[in-house]
Amino acid sequence: MEEKLIFDISKCGGAGECLEVCPNNVWKWKEITVSFLGMKMRKKIPYPEYQDKCILCGLCVKICPTGAVKFKE
Ligand code: SF4
Repeated sequence: MEEKLIFDISKCGGAGECLEVCPNNVWKWKEITVSFLGMKMRKKIPYPEYQDKCILCGLCVKICPTGAVKFKE
């Protein structure tokens, strides 16, 4: 798969605006395990799974409130 985006999971707020704006369904919900106060918890976050379909429109980069998505240079 060709990577077109850099996604920083540690900055992601998890609201999923990217899933809503993407015209090509590049994003999907993914379950990850995070550590919180010494406990392991499952959490759902958006993830750019299908980057080969990305047309570099920039909508997800613009809408992300935490700056978690960038174009790969
Ligand atoms: S740049 Fe556009 S096509 Fe690519 S993942 Fe973001 S919203 Fe989807």
